Amino acid sequence: MAHRPLPPGSQAWRRIVVKVGTSTLTAGTDALNPPRMLDLVRQLAALRASGLDVVLVSSGAQQAGRERLGFPQESKTIPFKQMLAAVGQGRIMHLWEQYFELYDVIVAQVLLTRQDVEDRHRYLTVRDTFEGLLQHGIVPIVNENDAVATDEIKVGENDSLSAMVANVIEADLLVLLTDTDGLYTADPHVDADAHLLECVEHIDAGVYGLATGSRSGLGTGGMYTKIVAAEMAMRSGTSVVIASGNRENALAGALERTVPATWFPARITPDEGRKRWMLAQAHTAGSVWVDDGACQAVVHGGKSLLPVGIVEVQGTFERGALVSVRDSSGREVARGLGNYDSADLRRILGQRSCDIADILGFDYGPEFLHRDKMVLL
Ligand code: GLU
Repeated sequence: MAHRPLPPGSQAWRRIVVKVGTSTLTAGTDALNPPRMLDLVRQLAALRASGLDVVLVSSGAQQAGRERLGFPQESKTIPFKQMLAAVGQGRIMHLWEQYFELYDVIVAQVLLTRQDVEDRHRYLTVRDTFEGLLQHGIVPIVNENDAVATDEIKVGENDSLSAMVANVIEADLLVLLTDTDGLYTADPHVDADAHLLECVEHIDAGVYGLATGSRSGLGTGGMYTKIVAAEMAMRSGTSVVIASGNRENALAGALERTVPATWFPARITPDEGRKRWMLAQAHTAGSVWVDDGACQAVVHGGKSLLPVGIVEVQGTFERGALVSVRDSSGREVARGLGNYDSADLRRILGQRSCDIADILGFDYGPEFLHRDKMVLL
């Protein structure tokens, strides 16, 4: 497959996740830096105003807690870190909210743990939350829920968390703002020949070998976790750029390619990634038989599949499961990710979409299979 060329400006992106590390938020000091945060908000608000869906993954809760508590005696214990995060998260959100308010942008706090994206049911809930927020033009501000996340359920650092978020919302770009311009061929602090890699198309052991770790000491991640995140994101169709948050206009500059940065271009779009995954599955969780009108509309009319066109449901499946669409002869004509589980679907099949809420007491939208979440066979 041909490489997707990197678009020259931000206009080509549809949905982006911007991850800002602690060292960027503190501008290299040990306290949150309001001018730095405000400057980032200005750039994020401009992207939002240009029509992009924007999600901010903000670290810095623990550091904000340290600052608020007057830099208490450090401890490596989990309760200590949980305490720092619990104190600092509110503080950092308060600042973000105030600054975004200046640009008339509404923000929302989303705190996640690993389970929220790994458990299928929770994943769908989280996805719905993000969709709802983005549809209303709200900027979700994400962090790990450090105050309650134990070691077993923790992602542990926000590079990977931001790649997970990019996957959930099918972002086409993930921007990792940190305290260096990107990935170097060697440590630029010790090797005069070291140079910045502008584009990494494949991540292999050699690329991991170049990741020497973060120098700031404040954040949890380093270059290694950024490469892990980049690999994760690229696989699901999200391009990644690592750039320095210390540069003026860092975010806009990274997108417009006017500041030094390392790009990791995805070779497929999130949409292609999802479709390939659906086609590659040997088994689906169940089947729905559709009438001839619905079959025509789906196969030739480019339409979504509504419950009214479904005549029978086979199998037991969860909401979000991969389900086959079969014509009256039983032939599989399409497959897609269902909006209703099999029990609910049995109650609404043959019914008009406007009656779903009355029948079920809730509704997840008028379609059983949305066009965008379906492939024809
Ligand atoms: N969740 C942590 C915090 O807000 C940051 C994790 C990281 O540095 O990647 O303090």
